[in-house]
Amino acid sequence: MARVLVSDDLSPEAVRILADAGLEVDVKVGLPPAELEAIIGGYDALAVRSATKVTARLLERAGRLRVIGRAGVGVDNVDLDAATRRGVVVMNTPGGSSITVAELALAMILSLYRHVPGATASVKAGKWEKKRFQGREIAGKTLGVVGIGNIGSVLVDRALAMKMQVLAYDPFITPEAAAKLGAELVDLETLWREADVISLHVPLTEQTRHLVGAATLAKMKKGAILVNCARGGIVDERAVAESLAAGHLGGVALDVFEKEPPAADHPLFGLDQVVCTPHIGASTEEAQSAVAVAIAEQLVAYLRDGIVKNAVNVPGLPKEILDQLAPYLPLAEKLGAAAAQLGPQGPTEVTIEVSGELAGMPMRPIAARALVGLLRHYLDTPVNEVNAPAIAKERGIQVREVRSAESHDWASLVKVRVSGAGNEARVAGTVYGKRDPRIVRVNGFRVEAVPDGHVIVVENDDAPGVVGNLGTALAAAGVNIALISLSRMEDRSGAFSFLNVDQAPAPEVLERLRVLPHVRSVRALKL
Ligand code: NAD
Repeated sequence: MARVLVSDDLSPEAVRILADAGLEVDVKVGLPPAELEAIIGGYDALAVRSATKVTARLLERAGRLRVIGRAGVGVDNVDLDAATRRGVVVMNTPGGSSITVAELALAMILSLYRHVPGATASVKAGKWEKKRFQGREIAGKTLGVVGIGNIGSVLVDRALAMKMQVLAYDPFITPEAAAKLGAELVDLETLWREADVISLHVPLTEQTRHLVGAATLAKMKKGAILVNCARGGIVDERAVAESLAAGHLGGVALDVFEKEPPAADHPLFGLDQVVCTPHIGASTEEAQSAVAVAIAEQLVAYLRDGIVKNAVNVPGLPKEILDQLAPYLPLAEKLGAAAAQLGPQGPTEVTIEVSGELAGMPMRPIAARALVGLLRHYLDTPVNEVNAPAIAKERGIQVREVRSAESHDWASLVKVRVSGAGNEARVAGTVYGKRDPRIVRVNGFRVEAVPDGHVIVVENDDAPGVVGNLGTALAAAGVNIALISLSRMEDRSGAFSFLNVDQAPAPEVLERLRVLPHVRSVRALKL
């Protein structure tokens, strides 16, 4: 009989599920590391939340262990590499708190529309200000949901029940999939312009950092309200405070902040129509219990029937193959990330092509890592080599793996092409020596660029002075250029610069570059 150790506080129901499935379950919560190390050798499965630290040292003593179940999303407390090396499957429970977070967003909307926090404070202060707290109904209003993944789609459902109209923006979702949820998929401009209530449910990425800033706020309806239960940094809090103070934005509710906890003199705290909670989006009894039950069911499915669900690691390849592939895996991830950031908002097709020596090796790991780099750009749920192909499929992205006999000057070449909505991006890279990844092509341009850190890519006319102007404008903004790779079309119909810079360029710096003479486009990437 398989033995399961529950080393963090799950829930009685979760423990019952394990026991009812005929597993031998020991619940030993809060063991000191040494005691855990002493007993772990007797178990086939380990169930944890975030408290138990599953270190390489612990895993070395876990000779029987086949699976680790984490009730929750983040797996920072598990040494994934060590688990993978030992062939231990690590599972988590993405989506377990979606209802909980969506309910907080709904509570935020209602609180703002009915002034619940302000009215409570007023009554408690001995006042009776019926006029001051006249509110608005949400029925019939238009909700704009930015990001309809796990949480956003639950909010769409709840908002429809409240008789709201729902517009949604998500570059990863087809209009049909959105319509099935009951939302109308629109572009961002339409969403800003038409929504009475805007709720953000996107991950924090280079693309979504300060997604809501002064320019966006100006596009919103006068009196619109904004809710952020996603991640701090998606909203420019200073700009929001200014818009509220100027009477344009009608209210804001934040569960997450650029800096947590926020400073006591935060510009929003002196204003009315501001509702705040201390990052408690996922904190409900039900969410805590739901993830415990989910992990218990996943452990049973694996131990009894060998079914792997929500695995976050991949069982290892033979060492000699892994050694040969190893330098190309980080390269593939960077190429995926670059293609995602240069490519269409909603990719529908990804082609990963290998040539040279790599063409004779297993290509699945390379393709999976390219997808990891690509999908991480869009998703907040953990993406890794194990789940990336499944996530791509779920999202309707067609993935093609191609081995090519193309001959070129490099030992091996990896190409990633991403397309969708009439747009595409193509990047190719190689590895110099054993560990020096380089991007060697971007769209039609040949470059020799280091795919690391903050990057600005510029397309421009092939004319004198462009590089000088870029350098001067960046210097004026205090942005240091670390490396630069220039390229031109053979027929001189266009030129391209790939600039590695020491810090993320602010949106206004990019704006300044875009208006320089001969500049056609400017993009910031994080690789
Ligand atoms: P998810 O990965 O299921 O969904 C994110 C969605 O955003 C995806 O559908 C993706 O296509 C979309 N997206 C990506 N980039 C976009 C862009 N530029 N514009 C519009 N849409 C874009 O994630 P989720 O589980 O729904 O989580 C959503 C957010 O909520 C994340 O930021 C997550 O960190 C946050 N979260 C907060 C709490 C909390 O305590 N407040 C708890 C859990 C999750």
